[in-house]
Amino acid sequence: MTPVKRILTAAVVLLNVACAARNSSPNPGRHRSDGFIREASVRAHMEFLAGDAINGRGSGTRDEWIAVAYVAAQLRSWGVEPMGDNGGYVQTIEIERPELAAAPVLSIGARRYTHGKEITVATMSAPSLSGTIATFKPGTATPKGSVVVIPELTRELSAALSTTVMVLAKSTGCGPVRRQPGALPRISPRTVAAPSSTTRPACIGLDADTYVAAEKLTPGTSVTLEGQVKTVQKANTWNAVGRLTGSDPQMSRDVILLSAHIDHLGNGRAQAAAGGDNIYNGADDDASGSIAVLELAEAIAAGRRPKRTIVFAWFGSEESGGTGSRYFADKPVVPLDRIVANLQFEMIGRADEKVPPHTLWLTGYERSNLGPELARRGAKLVQDPHPDQSFFTRSDNIQFARRGVIAHTVSSFGLHKDYHAASDEIRTIDFAHMTDSIRSMLAPIRWLSDSEFKPDWLPGKKPES
Ligand SMILES: [Zn+2]
Repeated sequence: MTPVKRILTAAVVLLNVACAARNSSPNPGRHRSDGFIREASVRAHMEFLAGDAINGRGSGTRDEWIAVAYVAAQLRSWGVEPMGDNGGYVQTIEIERPELAAAPVLSIGARRYTHGKEITVATMSAPSLSGTIATFKPGTATPKGSVVVIPELTRELSAALSTTVMVLAKSTGCGPVRRQPGALPRISPRTVAAPSSTTRPACIGLDADTYVAAEKLTPGTSVTLEGQVKTVQKANTWNAVGRLTGSDPQMSRDVILLSAHIDHLGNGRAQAAAGGDNIYNGADDDASGSIAVLELAEAIAAGRRPKRTIVFAWFGSEESGGTGSRYFADKPVVPLDRIVANLQFEMIGRADEKVPPHTLWLTGYERSNLGPELARRGAKLVQDPHPDQSFFTRSDNIQFARRGVIAHTVSSFGLHKDYHAASDEIRTIDFAHMTDSIRSMLAPIRWLSDSEFKPDWLPGKKPES
């Protein structure tokens, strides 16, 4: 080795050391080692995202926007790369909400039934809908454009009926209506830039006589629900998106998507909770999952850069029909076929008694080889103990799974009574469980981000598109 080369080598070594120091510690002064997820940090995020000041992060409201801006600010400080609009982390999604001029009318043959009289339209996916009566058998998909007559549309059935246009149920069969009696039904928002169809059927509650008549309808009978549009309200919903580009030039093409939904039900003006306020704080649903993705982003950004790329996403308007994640899937920031796995985090703020302490479960665990492989790498991850609830189809992961991406939801929701109630508050959160659970996912996610393992659906288990 010549002296010149030696000097050059020394310079290169110094440069490498400097670069390594910068890469391994984008947060000088924080001295946060890889893998260290602190309960105080989890609490701090929770107190902001589920505190009363942010008013329940209502889908498509200014409060949702503030929550997304909060996430964006954190990402900037950790050195996560922005993937939103105009060099920032925030994606602004234009949505349209048609508003009706008068009560919609259901027509079956020559008979007419009016909202507020014989029927109550609880949800409506478009101003006018039409379909034909089909027989519903649990466990089998109904043909596209079906109208089914069932006593009650539960959330589980709602997932199974994603190809159904309308559900005709008993008068209280569409679940609790959060609107004033007699108010016109709300129509699901439509995304302007990526208008793909909604995956939720309209639900119409029928009075006793009408329900008896509907039960006798023969398959093939045509049914229409007609509403007259008064105005189309323009609104927005927001996602936050960031990325850590993989360190390996080849493997960085592969993307791991970690996600959660940032919105919740907002401020329920029409229905103050007994003995409490009327803010739907959504501490568990889904501030907890949003915080998991924040903590993982910070911990991974602070450590050695993984070989594969990781995209972190917080979706808006999940609660009003999955608008944010559907937009992301329709206009992805990276091609969907490069996403090797999506893990959505939903409701991990409390332990589920059905599984061992400090354990999480994975929806659709039995559908792919991802869950078992993560468990082999130390994730405290087991099969979903509530298969009857169809959770696999009830979160944002389904948008990706239906498009072929191996996508599951990580959760520990034990069917607690505070679900979608104003009482889903910070005081109910088990911070030890939550912190430990997030921590337990870090090493397995790091392994996945460094490995060449590509998960796959098991034979016959790929969800229908
Ligand atoms: Zn949720």
